[in-house]
Amino acid sequence: MPETRVVDGLALANEIRKELAEAVGLHVGAGRRPPRLAVVLVGDDPASASYIKGKRRACDRVGMDSEEHDLPATASQAEVLETLGRLNDDDRVDGILVQLPLPKGLDADEITGAIDPAKDVDGLHPQNAGRLLLGLPALTPCTPLGIMEILERYGIGLEGAHAVVVGRSNIVGKPVSLLLQQANATVTMCHSRTRDLRDVCATADVLVAAVGVPKLVGRDWVKPGAAVIDVGVSEVDGKLTGDVDTEAVQGVASIVTPHRRGVGPMTITMLLQNTLTAYEARTGARR
Ligand code: NAP
Repeated sequence: MPETRVVDGLALANEIRKELAEAVGLHVGAGRRPPRLAVVLVGDDPASASYIKGKRRACDRVGMDSEEHDLPATASQAEVLETLGRLNDDDRVDGILVQLPLPKGLDADEITGAIDPAKDVDGLHPQNAGRLLLGLPALTPCTPLGIMEILERYGIGLEGAHAVVVGRSNIVGKPVSLLLQQANATVTMCHSRTRDLRDVCATADVLVAAVGVPKLVGRDWVKPGAAVIDVGVSEVDGKLTGDVDTEAVQGVASIVTPHRRGVGPMTITMLLQNTLTAYEARTGARR
């Protein structure tokens, strides 16, 4: 039975944040301003407010600037678009993130499409999504980038491997499938209508679960030696739970990400990386 390594996403995130802090330090040391992220929060959802706090704290720790724009839950579509227009025009702002989900009544597609693609650090603008599909350089969604970093830094070979991605959202499932395919994996995309889901998953060398169904992936879903990435976050009886039964896959998977300190810290780290990428592309600053 293989020994399962539990991925330490926090340690990996801290390692990369150190590299990012050094990069920001080089720019500032050369007399340039630091990169700046603008976050837009519409409404007063406590989970969203806490995510934004974490993102701003992460910026601060690597020496990046951040600013927050809070709009009431009653804000109109026009008001949100007006805020984005100002941030698009503000030359000091390198990255813009609108915290999702948005309150009911707002058109999220129009809102993400209104962000300047050069500042679209969530990688959700159709231009960035299209460029990713075409294999062109693009700002790419943060969770998929974080997953690819985990696989690379844990030495998981993707060339010719069978990767199964459960979930086909624009923010996780679709982009991670494209990145895996670009890394020469053979990719199967699954979703709520997939037949015999367990059997498909059991053929995966790399299994990515981005579903939101607590402990969907059990021991008999995992091929011995497979790398298992758990993206899901659900609340069960006040406790956060992932899509993978982490205990059950011990001794079967080669690596597994825990639902805490797994993919989550890497997602925020990739947001910082995208902000640095946007800054360097926009300002032409070279290290
Ligand atoms: P989403 O937009 O709700 O998409 C969920 C996907 O799962 C859909 O494609 C859906 O299929 C599929 N699905 C639902 N039930 C299924 C089932 N029983 N069997 C197979 N597929 C099923 O969610 P998301 O935004 O991608 O997020 C997925 C999960 O990851 C959520 O729990 C979210 O909270 C978490 N998340 C975590 C992070 C992090 O940093 N840790 C970041 C982003 C998201 P259909 O398309 O057929 O409906």
